[in-house]
Amino acid sequence: MNYVVTPPDTPALLIRDSDLLFPVHRIYCVGRNYAAHAIEMGYDPDQEPPFFFQKNADTLVLDGRFPYPPMSSDVHHEIELVVALASGGRDIGVEEALDHVYGYAVGLDMTRRDLQMEAKQLGRPWEVGKAFEAAAPCSELVPASATGHPSRGAIRLTVNDEIRQDGDLRQMIWKVPEMIAHLSQLFTLVPGDLIFSGTPSGVGPVVRGDRLNGHVEGIGDLTVVVT
Ligand code: MN
Repeated sequence: MNYVVTPPDTPALLIRDSDLLFPVHRIYCVGRNYAAHAIEMGYDPDQEPPFFFQKNADTLVLDGRFPYPPMSSDVHHEIELVVALASGGRDIGVEEALDHVYGYAVGLDMTRRDLQMEAKQLGRPWEVGKAFEAAAPCSELVPASATGHPSRGAIRLTVNDEIRQDGDLRQMIWKVPEMIAHLSQLFTLVPGDLIFSGTPSGVGPVVRGDRLNGHVEGIGDLTVVVT
């Protein structure tokens, strides 16, 4: 059987020192996974645990160019460690969760904050704030076989060489094994799924011409220009 329209390409990430690609299935994102960010957004991390939302896989940006999106005048950067799954399943235990990880990358959970805030106030879904075109710039992947599984180390973002976000992976409320275990109770995880693991404090607006440099210690860097 043929398709009635051309099927879309499978979004994929580059892998460091490899000619192979990592095909992306879903992008899960963890919300308010660093206490200082939850507080800066007006929430009490002791009262509300982290939670999940999704971005579409075809919102990944691999060429380092982030086109400023329409319908917003308050687009924020959120620097995040990205977890890539080599295998999946349901009801994965915390103890074996890291066995499912292929590797890690540096990502930006770009957010139309004004539209997200409006959605929150009206009790509406978040897609307009989180899943717009080019909302997920991401670096190449590095296999966990090369890096190990990072649980500490700097996670940082500069904008035009000025530090905006400066956190540590140790500050994550749900650690990587816990987020995989939680997610696998809600969804069936499969190879190719990505998890954006939440952002430290210091989120803020970008404007056209800004140069964003993200860094996660031991994993890599991501440079994105807002166009
Ligand atoms: Mn985020």
